[in-house]
Amino acid sequence: MSDGKTDLIEKPMQPWEEEKKQEESPLADKVEKQYISASRITTYGLCGEAYRRRYVEGEFRLPFTNLIKGTSFHDVAKLNNQQKIESKVDLPSDVLTDFAAQRVESRFSLGVELTKDEKEKGSSATKGQLIDIVTAGAKLYAENAHDTQPVEVERKQRLVLPEWEKDIVYIMDVETATGIKNFKFTGKKKSQNDVDVDTGLTAYCLAYFCKHGKMPEYVGFENYVAYVTPKRQELKTAYNALRTTRASMDFQNFINRATHMLKAIDSGIFMPAPVGAWKCSDKYCEYYKDCKYINYERQSAAESEE
Ligand code: SF4
Repeated sequence: MSDGKTDLIEKPMQPWEEEKKQEESPLADKVEKQYISASRITTYGLCGEAYRRRYVEGEFRLPFTNLIKGTSFHDVAKLNNQQKIESKVDLPSDVLTDFAAQRVESRFSLGVELTKDEKEKGSSATKGQLIDIVTAGAKLYAENAHDTQPVEVERKQRLVLPEWEKDIVYIMDVETATGIKNFKFTGKKKSQNDVDVDTGLTAYCLAYFCKHGKMPEYVGFENYVAYVTPKRQELKTAYNALRTTRASMDFQNFINRATHMLKAIDSGIFMPAPVGAWKCSDKYCEYYKDCKYINYERQSAAESEE
């Protein structure tokens, strides 16, 4: 593994709509043969059918509010962290919260797929609540960002594993002088198990190891939590830093899984998510409503009775 090397790719991270453009470009086939992205490995791990529809069939759908929420928060962290590489200081809280509101407005205006509940609430009210949640997350981020001094921010990089048939392309949220921090903006706290088994972090650690010839000293989630309570409609926030480790066995497990995944894809095998998986929901899967593995009508009726 220590013989591995990285080869930087010039394109910066693309937001969802730009990623779509890149995926559909005439070069897509050519590029596809050369590498697999860490995010594709994660997608396939969650559901082969969702992978098939998105990456094989090219069925791109409008983003959910959950995706807009997450990507808008990432935009805020990226804006701050990119300038902080040189400036070494954080942007003021009001700059970050204003930017958060702008990003939600902008992403919402490009089109959004509302869930049944959100349709009942109305598009404008849903967007308003989303802005409140993301700006609250940005405010909390401004209060806690001082502990992070980035040296790399959301740069698309390529991990070359000479003995493996494809390179792995990855985008690490933040690399510091001593390690890796990945931002997670969620409606409920991530657990220690979430960070311990996260495939993306394993790929980043492997890349870090190949790049620097040593394990990162710090690996973890910067988990920012913001949500509105269902009954009282109160906005709550929490900062939840979670630290984990990876070892060489994790790298071997990751490569074993990725190798098996490539074989399955080449053979046209795309297993759906297990029955009852959290991803099978209109909040988290864009193909839920017309997925051939889901009785959408029965599940929707059951959810509306909850
Ligand atoms: S609804 Fe479930 S099985 Fe169907 S594509 Fe989505 S995650 Fe996969």
